[in-house]
Amino acid sequence: MTKVPSVIHWFRLDLRIHDNLALRNAINEAENRKHLLRAVYVIDPDIIKTKVGVNRLKFLLQSLQNLDENLRKLNSCLYVIRGKATEELPKLFDKWQVKFLTTQVDIDPEYVNQDVIIEKVAEEKDIFIVKRVQHTVFDVHSVLKKNNGAIPLTYQKFLSLVTDIQVKECIEITKKLSDHCKAPEKDLKGYEVPKLDEFLDESALEPCKYPGGETEALKRLHMYMAKKQWVCQFEKPNTSPNSIEPSTTVLSPYISHGCLSVKLFYHKLKEAESGSKHSQPPVSLMGQLMWREFYYTAGAGAKNFDKMVGNPVCTQIPWGKNDEHLKAWAEGRTGYPFVDAIMRQLKQEGWIHHLARHMVACFLTRGDLWISWEEGAKVFEDYLLDYDWSLNAGNWMWLSASAFFYKYFRVYSPVAFGKKTDKEGLFIRKYVPELKKYPTAFIYEPWKAPKSVQVSAGCIVGEGYPKRIVDHDKIHKENMQKMAAAYRANKEKKAIKRPRS
Ligand code: FAD
Repeated sequence: MTKVPSVIHWFRLDLRIHDNLALRNAINEAENRKHLLRAVYVIDPDIIKTKVGVNRLKFLLQSLQNLDENLRKLNSCLYVIRGKATEELPKLFDKWQVKFLTTQVDIDPEYVNQDVIIEKVAEEKDIFIVKRVQHTVFDVHSVLKKNNGAIPLTYQKFLSLVTDIQVKECIEITKKLSDHCKAPEKDLKGYEVPKLDEFLDESALEPCKYPGGETEALKRLHMYMAKKQWVCQFEKPNTSPNSIEPSTTVLSPYISHGCLSVKLFYHKLKEAESGSKHSQPPVSLMGQLMWREFYYTAGAGAKNFDKMVGNPVCTQIPWGKNDEHLKAWAEGRTGYPFVDAIMRQLKQEGWIHHLARHMVACFLTRGDLWISWEEGAKVFEDYLLDYDWSLNAGNWMWLSASAFFYKYFRVYSPVAFGKKTDKEGLFIRKYVPELKKYPTAFIYEPWKAPKSVQVSAGCIVGEGYPKRIVDHDKIHKENMQKMAAAYRANKEKKAIKRPRS
């Protein structure tokens, strides 16, 4: 057993050195107490196997590798603990004689539940815990308090609550850890950063389109922030869901894993906007960051935010069940090339544009397939590099017109929508290669191509590419009726519940 006691910084969604107050607190505490610093990350192989897709796992492991490299520059290193945090950390508290622990505040119930258990154990063992808000720009619990505990249900309301909040400057860690606070290298045995083949077959080891890690995150941030004019003119609706290279920043995977501090992004945006005419929320880049804060605030305030039942902000809609359709959607086999191209891009690369997410989420739910947004959210959880508990649930509710957005009669057409920004169908040709030789006239609607055209394009609909699983023109009108009925039923229910005056 180690003689010198330890201070732990428990990394969760803050896989970075920059703007990491909780880590700095741990380093300072170790220095002041002359304790050893142990920077830990806990990886649960059961969750990895069931909930994390290949791309996200690669991204995570690259981020951990990079975090270890960056910690080593500070004369420290990363311990990766395999197992459940609530079981493994208490064992280490004894083994390493832990006296002090720092970590990040999060609202994801998985983390909140872990916190309750760890805090209880820590209290029994006399371990002092410090938690820092460092995954959002604002302290979302304070924002809720400012709104008398009520969830701001509109973006504008949310903005009015945060408009006068001063956002503190980012902090930096510049001093190296003293040698006497560095844990001996031999203690690392068994806690090294995992290699991919610990979880995956050799066959899955292809490189990622978006490599993980803090170093890559900062590079990407600086690259975009250097384009001052681009930042100032950014308007989300004018970006393209189907450009071959992304038309937005793709900073989301880095923010979700905490490789990039949102506060740093916020300050850099302020800097880029300062002194110039610039676009405004909700469509500006700053506006995008505020959407994130908005959903975090709602997620922190609502019970069961990732579910329909028991969720106070979610309209109850009698979604149907159709496993075949759900599978066809998830695998990009709906027979609608634009929808299929997006879902295949998601599976291959782990990131799709926001408006592409609009298209496929609307199609799965109120638009075409009448399947619950919860099912779609699970598929996104598996495939998205940037999967985030509150953003995923909040946006799925928006798109299915279950919360925040109620214009259910505005349905995305799987044919017309993509054509606005990609008439030639280049995006479809890339991700649905079996259609790549189709004439432009039929690339969004291959079922309309005469048989002779299908033959000469080398792909017959119903053989080389699936027939449409639904007829959009017909089904979306039926679904609108069902939405109208669900809204009426919810309104009546609320009226019954409301006490009579
Ligand atoms: P940019 O346009 O460059 O925006 C910069 C940052 O602002 C993003 O990195 C992100 O952190 C934030 N942001 C942008 N749009 C939104 C938004 N609508 N809501 C909240 N934050 C936003 N985003 C996730 O990070 N994780 C998710 O799990 C997720 N699930 C989604 C599910 C659905 C059904 C939909 C419609 C959207 C979802 N989004 C999610 C939101 C959004 O699509 C992504 O954040 C965005 O596309 C990321 O690309 P970007 O970094 O290039 O964004």
